[in-house]
Amino acid sequence: MNIDFNKDNGLVPVVIQDNRTLQVLMLGYMNEEAFEKTKKEKRVTFFSRSKNRLWTKGEESGNFLEVKSIDIDCDQDTILIKVIPTNVVCHTGTFSCFGEKDSKGFLYELEEKISQRIDKKVEDSYTYSLYQRGINKMAQKVGEEAVEVVIEAKDSNDILFKNEAADLLYHFLILLKAKDFSLEDIEKILQDRNK
Ligand code: AMP
Ligand code: ZN
Ligand code: ZN
Ligand code: ZN
Repeated sequence: MNIDFNKDNGLVPVVIQDNRTLQVLMLGYMNEEAFEKTKKEKRVTFFSRSKNRLWTKGEESGNFLEVKSIDIDCDQDTILIKVIPTNVVCHTGTFSCFGEKDSKGFLYELEEKISQRIDKKVEDSYTYSLYQRGINKMAQKVGEEAVEVVIEAKDSNDILFKNEAADLLYHFLILLKAKDFSLEDIEKILQDRNK
């Protein structure tokens, strides 16, 4: 990767994008040292223009940006990094510095929320309490919700059918997380079948 660090005082703009939702999360700057550190640690380090030093995003808040992929633009002067954020990205408490809009879709946002409930061990969350009951229980819940979808499909109550379908998707996302897979992994299989 040959990045042109010679423009703008050795700083290159870096767009940070959520690897799952494709939401743009924030923009920062890197010098060559920050870029090397980011590649080595697989965790984003910027050069902060206000602090005038290397700044590992999350160094105080613990909200790090785990690097999933790095791309360079057409003329090698802008970097795009896809990340899995540990938590909210903006210091104002929002998920993205640009507000909460523009995502790949609500299912991906829900996947992210489920993931955080579990990773952060949120005690009063239903998601985390189900997770704690183990893989068999989570799989069983998916089975139960699937049966409920089948039952409602036979009746003609649209509202009940849609609600059971929603229950199924939600529990399916929990099971995926527990199995350490992502919605994207499953999407890829469907896409490949379509080729
Ligand atoms: P953090 O790197 O998350 O530990 O935050 C350390 C400090 O960096 C905060 O107190 C803010 O001043 C600043 N900061 C954190 N996140 C952002 C962000 N997304 N955009 C701009 N400044 C930030
Ligand atoms: Zn460019
Ligand atoms: Zn911000
Ligand atoms: Zn149900």
